[in-house]
Amino acid sequence: MLSSALEILHKYYGYSDFRKDQGKVIESILKGKDTLAVMPTGGGKSICYQIPAVLFKGVTVVISPLISLMKDQVDNIKDLGIGAAYINSSISHQDILHICESLIAGNIKMLYVAPERLESSEFCQIIKSIEVSQIAVDEAHCVSQWGHDFRTSYTYIWKFIESFSKRPVVTAFTATATKEVREDIVNQIKLNKPEVFISGFDRENLKIGCLKIGNRLGYMLKYIKTNEEQSGIVYAATRKEVDSIYERLKENNIAVARYHAGLSDKERKNNQEDFVYDRVNVIVATNAFGMGIDKSNVRYVIHYNMPKNIESYYQEIGRAGRDGEKSDCILMFAPQDVITQKYLIETSIQSPERRLNEYKKLQQMIDFVHYNGCLRKYILNYFGEQVDYEECGNCSNCVSEGEYVDKTIDCQKVLSCIYRMKREFGVNMIVDVLRGSSQRKVIQYGFDKLSTHGIMKNYSKEELSNFINTLIAHGYISLKEGEYPTVILNPRSIKVLKGEEKVTLKEIVKAKKITLNNDLFEILRVLRREIAGEESIPPYLIFPDTTLKELSSRCPINFEQMMDVSGVGQLKLKKYGERFLEAIKNYMDESKIKPQWIFKNELKNDKNVKEGKNLKLKTHEITAEMIKEHKDLEQIAKDRQITVSTVLSHITKYAEEKGVLDLNINFGGIFTDEEENQILKVTKKIGISKLKPIKEKLSEDISYDKIKAVILKDYILLDKNA
Ligand code: ADP
Ligand code: MG
Ligand code: ZN
Repeated sequence: MLSSALEILHKYYGYSDFRKDQGKVIESILKGKDTLAVMPTGGGKSICYQIPAVLFKGVTVVISPLISLMKDQVDNIKDLGIGAAYINSSISHQDILHICESLIAGNIKMLYVAPERLESSEFCQIIKSIEVSQIAVDEAHCVSQWGHDFRTSYTYIWKFIESFSKRPVVTAFTATATKEVREDIVNQIKLNKPEVFISGFDRENLKIGCLKIGNRLGYMLKYIKTNEEQSGIVYAATRKEVDSIYERLKENNIAVARYHAGLSDKERKNNQEDFVYDRVNVIVATNAFGMGIDKSNVRYVIHYNMPKNIESYYQEIGRAGRDGEKSDCILMFAPQDVITQKYLIETSIQSPERRLNEYKKLQQMIDFVHYNGCLRKYILNYFGEQVDYEECGNCSNCVSEGEYVDKTIDCQKVLSCIYRMKREFGVNMIVDVLRGSSQRKVIQYGFDKLSTHGIMKNYSKEELSNFINTLIAHGYISLKEGEYPTVILNPRSIKVLKGEEKVTLKEIVKAKKITLNNDLFEILRVLRREIAGEESIPPYLIFPDTTLKELSSRCPINFEQMMDVSGVGQLKLKKYGERFLEAIKNYMDESKIKPQWIFKNELKNDKNVKEGKNLKLKTHEITAEMIKEHKDLEQIAKDRQITVSTVLSHITKYAEEKGVLDLNINFGGIFTDEEENQILKVTKKIGISKLKPIKEKLSEDISYDKIKAVILKDYILLDKNA
C-alpha cells in the first residue's frame, strides 16, 4: 500500500522519502481509519491527506480555515499535476457550476472549502451527489476553545459528516500539541476510534535564540540589513509597535510590508501577498499574521517582543524554515514586554478562569526567557516530549557565540546611583545623572551633588540606556509597573553592590548571514522569481529553496538528472526543466565546471550514505564537491562564506567518511614549505591528537588553520590514500 504512496510522492512531488511519521499517517488513512495527526508547523501535514486523496477513488473535501490561502494551496496542487479546486465567497456562481461539472466528471481529486461553506444547503446538495472518500480537517485546533484560533463554524463539522449516507474517512491535522486541544478535536469532530499520531516536535533546522539587549532596534536593523536578500518575519506585540518598526525599516531602505488588525482587509491581503510573492522580503506583524502561511522560504523570524506564551511562540517561529533549510529564530526580550502582555490579558480576556490560565502560560514564557539550559529542550519538555540530550547545539544557550565580559564595576556604578537617588525614576533620568547632565530636573533634585553624578561619561546616552536596559533584562535591576515604569533595586542588585555576585554579560554577537548560497543559487533564484511573475504564483511554489540549493550544488545537465533532484516532480520538470537547465549550463560553461553526476540510487548503495540516510548533499560534501572542481581553499571559504578552518574540517570529515580520496587539494597560500616543516617536526614528536600542545610548541605566527591544514595534507589524506 505504501509503495503506491511512495510512487505518488516521487512522481508528483519529486521527493524521494517520507518524512518522519508521514508514512504511518498515510498508511492509516489508506486503511480507511479516522486519523488525527499532530505534527509541527512545516512538518509536512498536507502531503498526509493529499496522497490518500490521489489514491482514493472519489473526492477529498479539505476543510481549511483561511479563504485567503486557498488559492495558493490549490495552485500548488494543480502545479504538481493533480486536479483540485476551491469554493469560497470569492468564487462566482457561474464558476461554482463549472467546478460541479468537473467534480461529477471526476476531474477533481481535492476540493478545498472554508468551514462556513458546510452550512450552505445548496453546497451540501452538490456534495452528496458525488462520491466523497475523505474529509480532511486542516488546522483542526480551530475547533477548540483552548486553541488560539477558535472558529465557531468548525464546531459544525460533525453535522456535515453525519449527513453522508456512506461515511467518508475523516482525518484531522494540527500543530497544536496540548492534550486539551487534542481531546477537543476528537470529541468535537466526532472522530471514530481514531488513530492518533503525535510527531516529535523538534525542528532541528531552527536555530533558537534569545537576546536580552537594551538596543533591540539597532540589532534588528543590522540583522535585517545583513540578511537583506532573505525573507523574514518580525513579530511585535502591538499594532503601534508594528507601525513604528515598519517606519524605521522603511527609513532604512528595507523593502518591508506590515500586517495587523488595524489595516483594512484589502491592505492586509495586499501586504501579505507582497511578502508571499517575494516582492518585499520583510513583513512586520502582530500575531494576527501567519496562520496558514505556507511560504516555505522564510529564513528568519524575529520576535521584537516576547510573545504571550510558548504555544504562540513555537507556532510563530515554526513559520521559518518549512523547507528544512536552516533558519534563525531570534527572541528579543525586554522587561516592558511582561507589562504589555499582562495588560493585553487584562483587557482582552473576560473569564477569570481563562485569565488565570493565560497568566500561568505567560509565566512559563518568562521562565523560558530566563532559562539557562538548552532552550530547545525547554520547549520540547513544555510540550510533554522527553529529550535525551542536555545540549542541542543549536540554541543560543548551547552555542556560546560571543565572549563573556565582566561588567560588575559598571553595573555597581548604575546600582549605587539608583540607590543614592532615593526616589524612583525612569531609565532616562538615571542616564542623565550618570552622564553628569546639568538639566533643570537634575539640579532641582540635587543630583548634581551625588558622588555618582557624571561617573559614566564614557558612555553615550544611547549606550548607557541600552546598558541599563540590558541589566534589567538580566534581572540585576527590577522594573516597576505603572504609567511610567520606574527602576528599583532588588535582592540581586544588593548582592552585586556588596560584591557577592559578579555581572558577566555576553558581548552581543554580530548579526550573521544565514545561508551559504553560491552564485548559481542566486541566478536560479532570479529565474524562479521571473517564472513566478509570469505565472502569477508565489516563487516558493515553483521550487522551494532546498531544490534550488540542490540544483546549484549538483548541477544537473539533462532531464534525467534533474528529476533526481529533491522537489522536482514530473509536471514541474516538464514545465520548468528546460529553463533551469539552460541557466545551469550557462553557469557551468562560464565557470568551467565539468559535469559530474551521481544518481541517488547509486549513492543509496553506498554504505556511508546509507548509514547517513540523508540523500541531500551535506554541507561538508558540498565543500568536497567544490574541491573536486579544483577550487582553492580560500576561494571555497569565500564562496561559501565560511572560514578556511571550517573548509579544512569539512574535508577532514569527508576524508574520514569516504575512506579513499580523489581530492587534489591545492594548499598553496595556506602555509609555506618552511612552516610545513616546522609543524611536521612537532607533530612527529607529540602526535596529532590534540592541537593545542602543537600550537604551543610553535612560534606565534603559526595559526591553528596552518596546523590543521598540514595535518590534513600530511596525515589524513596520506593515510586515506594509502
Ligand atoms: P505543515 O505541516 O505545516 O502543513 P506543509 O504540508 O505545508 O507543512 O509542508 C511543509 C514543506 O515541507 C512543504 O514545502 C512541503 O513540500 C515539504 N515536504 C513535505 N513532505 C516532504 C517530504 N517527504 N520530503 C521533502 N519535503 C517535504
Ligand atoms: Mg499546513
Ligand atoms: Zn540547546
